[in-house]
Amino acid sequence: SIEVKDVTKRFGDFVALEDVTVSIPTGRLTALLGPSGGGKSTLLRVIAGLESADAGSVEIEGIDATRLPPQKRNVGFVFQHYAAFKHMTVAKNVAFGLEIRKKPKDEVADRVHELLELVHLDQFAHRLPSQLSGGQRQRMALARALAVEPSVLLLDEPFGALDAKVRKELRDWLRRLHDEVHVTTVFVTHDQEEALEVSDEIVVINNGRVEQVGTPDELYDEPANDFVMSFLGEVT
Ligand code: ATP
Ligand code: MG
Repeated sequence: SIEVKDVTKRFGDFVALEDVTVSIPTGRLTALLGPSGGGKSTLLRVIAGLESADAGSVEIEGIDATRLPPQKRNVGFVFQHYAAFKHMTVAKNVAFGLEIRKKPKDEVADRVHELLELVHLDQFAHRLPSQLSGGQRQRMALARALAVEPSVLLLDEPFGALDAKVRKELRDWLRRLHDEVHVTTVFVTHDQEEALEVSDEIVVINNGRVEQVGTPDELYDEPANDFVMSFLGEVT
């Protein structure tokens, strides 16, 4: 699991996360859900090690990660606007993380093939990222994040920039992918429907605080407070 304990994060005088404690279970698909400015990305970045907390601790699968740099946390991440290496083919982009870890060539080739099949991009292996659609590019980003076999996959609105139809396709696809690989996945969304439809667990974040943690059914049937009730009730 990912254990976030008493985490506070300030930007100057502004408190972005206030005493956040949350446990994210292993092998599940967990959504960080909440309104804009609530602290979702900040919490994800603290888990990834891209921001350091002012107080509190982060434990990832039993290891105290609080003071570890991102590359030692065994996490893969994908952001909304994914930056690919433009001059490298799709296959090269996915292979990159394995090559810098000096994996043997034939092992890299096998793994890349397997990953591109998993994200249904095997026929596009030799294209450049600029020759892919937005949704295909985000799938490439996921393959790249998965390449190094992270214990945790962190996704910050990975489909946020895409149109509604593609977004829905990709979210269903993420669910199926997760059912296949079972890697502990945390994804940020401000879309209630998206969180309710695809996740196993939802962490509702507002004003830098955790309002509720539960399964979609639990949140829907028993919202912890007025905020959760009205936020879930909003039609998007
Ligand atoms: P959104 O849905 O809009 O992405 P979010 O829930 O991801 O919102 P965060 O990006 O975590 O929100 O930001 C939480 C608060 O912290 C916001 O008020 C934001 O302005 C502030 N904040 C985030 N990063 C910084 C920073 N580097 N410097 C100053 N303030 C910041
Ligand atoms: Mg954000």
